[in-house]
Amino acid sequence: MGAASPLAPAWLALPEDLNALHAPSWAHDVARNDGGELAVGGVTVSELKERFGTPLFVMSEDDFRARARAFRDAFDEAFRELCGGVDVYYAGKAFLSVEVARWVREEGLRLDTCSGGELAVAQRAGLPGAILGLHGNNKSVAEIRRALDLGVGRIVVDSIDELERVARIAQERRAEGEAGVAKVMLRLTPGVHAHTHEFIATAHEDQKFGLSMAPFTAEDAAERGVDPELSAAEQAVDAAVALEGIELLGLHCHIGSQIFEPDGFEIAARKLLSFHDAMQRKHGITLPEMDLGGGHGIAYTPVDTPRPAAEIAQALAAVVREACGELGIGCPRISIEPGRAIVGSTTFTLYEVGTRKTVQAEDPQDSSRTLPRRYVSVDGGMSDNARPVLYDADYSAALANRASDAPAQLSRVVGKHCESGDIVVKDVYLPSDVRAGDLLAVPGTGAYCWALASNYNYLARPGVVAVSGGSARWIIRGETEEDLLNRDMGAAQP
Ligand SMILES: *Cc1c(COP(=O)(O)O)cnc(C)c1O
Repeated sequence: MGAASPLAPAWLALPEDLNALHAPSWAHDVARNDGGELAVGGVTVSELKERFGTPLFVMSEDDFRARARAFRDAFDEAFRELCGGVDVYYAGKAFLSVEVARWVREEGLRLDTCSGGELAVAQRAGLPGAILGLHGNNKSVAEIRRALDLGVGRIVVDSIDELERVARIAQERRAEGEAGVAKVMLRLTPGVHAHTHEFIATAHEDQKFGLSMAPFTAEDAAERGVDPELSAAEQAVDAAVALEGIELLGLHCHIGSQIFEPDGFEIAARKLLSFHDAMQRKHGITLPEMDLGGGHGIAYTPVDTPRPAAEIAQALAAVVREACGELGIGCPRISIEPGRAIVGSTTFTLYEVGTRKTVQAEDPQDSSRTLPRRYVSVDGGMSDNARPVLYDADYSAALANRASDAPAQLSRVVGKHCESGDIVVKDVYLPSDVRAGDLLAVPGTGAYCWALASNYNYLARPGVVAVSGGSARWIIRGETEEDLLNRDMGAAQP
């Protein structure tokens, strides 16, 4: 089976069976068939390669629907008694297409958007405005207008500037004879940042999103001419209550991404609920809703341990129940916004191997000797998965077109771009006989991969194939060379 390499990071164990798939990283209907080939819903990777080419995003529609339902059902059940259930907004920025927007609606979820373009996708899919949310820290006037024209269920307002802008646009619409009220939530930063296994809680917020719940510093308050006792969050609530054209639904927070432990969500929920209570009392109002954001983690590698949706839902419901009890208030209707946790594991990227080489790298434990590291180049890279470059994200990979009994070899899967940082999977054990023409599958690429794709080096962006009921079809076709030249005005000249 090969030997563990000292070049491997401490977390990466030598797998007992290189042909085995780590189930949490894959769609539920991905498996090796009797011939050892990877198949999704019975459709083999060689068939997918034949019909659609590589690189290719391969998404299990059945798995997407199952995960969407699982989130909705788990949260609904945990919160039913407390507040009548939960609204689950799929965070479209993770991956969105017209078909996916339709699946979201059919499975009883709502859709979060954060741009005019995402609203356009939702609109083309025929989604009613009432089940849409609009996010963003710098929405344009046109985007706000479009959202109000569509009758979106909520605009999540990120700043006092924006609150005033939304109110002004709502009033203009009223003057034009349209509905003149914007349903608004206020995005607050509760001072909790969660990332994977850790979270940090801070009093002050140093990031672009949201309204801080911390009081202003004396200098800041003097400069802005505001009451230093009042946080930006409280000023925003005061303004929202006073402004014509604003209907304040409640408070919102989103504390981070790829979170595994519930404690960060719990602290944020407590902070938000106590502020929610204070604001209801101060203004004698009822805020009917509260949004606790997304960020639920998935398994990119075998060491990631996501919790089932039901477990997160129950932990959160317990905290919300307790906090509402302590405050003596009714529970607002809760909503959440998972993106990655619904779409991430539904998809793998299929690549073809082109070239290999093995280099000698210095042994981190003994600088007097070197150890082999194998590079395996595939036909995509940072243009279809920017996350390793952007976030140092780890992935795993599996030989997909066949099983292999060859010993394990520590490998680095790299792309074809003119960039040495163009890494797809930094460290993974692959069979030593992986060779040109083999297919590699990288799981967990459903979220923030296609969405972040680029045309670097004039590579055509891969398309997305959905597999359901044993058949595969494009939901977004791959780009062609024509697509690449379409907007080049010089190309149109004779
Ligand atoms: C990105 C984002 C989400 C979704 O995050 P995931 O990590 O994909 O679950 C939800 N809400 C807001 C406001 C976001 O910005």
